Amino acid sequence: MSDVAGHEVHGSRVGEWPAGDLVDLWGRACSGVVKHGFVIEFRDLEPPRTGIFDGLRIVLDPDVSFEMQCFLLLHLFGHSVQWVAPSLEHKLADLQHTEDREHFMSVLHAYELEAAGFGMQLMREVGVTGLDAWYSDFVATDWRYVEGYYQTNQLPDWKSCVVSGGPPVMPAPIPELRHHQVEVRFAF
Ligand SMILES: [Zn+2]
Repeated sequence: MSDVAGHEVHGSRVGEWPAGDLVDLWGRACSGVVKHGFVIEFRDLEPPRTGIFDGLRIVLDPDVSFEMQCFLLLHLFGHSVQWVAPSLEHKLADLQHTEDREHFMSVLHAYELEAAGFGMQLMREVGVTGLDAWYSDFVATDWRYVEGYYQTNQLPDWKSCVVSGGPPVMPAPIPELRHHQVEVRFAF
């Protein structure tokens, strides 16, 4: 089995991705995030927080699994872009001030997908090409998790949210950034 590439064994199963691919992603993604001007920090975060960002830094809890850290780094990079790109600022008002539940969920979904696109773009920029399906499934899984939380007011069981063969995330060009501190925000 050892000479079979991990993705051929596992498909794109979230939670089962082979470590070698993720170690490569981790190194490259860290470099990309830092080159885009964000600091990466590890800190002990109060559960259920796994990662936070404030426009200047992305903070991860090292107790989270390595695979989740890889996803969070890409995911929180995407959200960080949304909060410091002047061209995207107008979209944040809807996210913060939409009262109607159904409309809020569609605004939130668009916000999550946009962030996902910036994460995919970062992978492209740093030359990671074999993890598109893994990342897309992670994005779909994360959305089911977030949606479940808003529907039930309780954090769902992550494993019950795992998606396999989800829709591919399209890379989105990263706009000009003007780094500044924003209110500390959670992974979603
Ligand atoms: Zn998010």
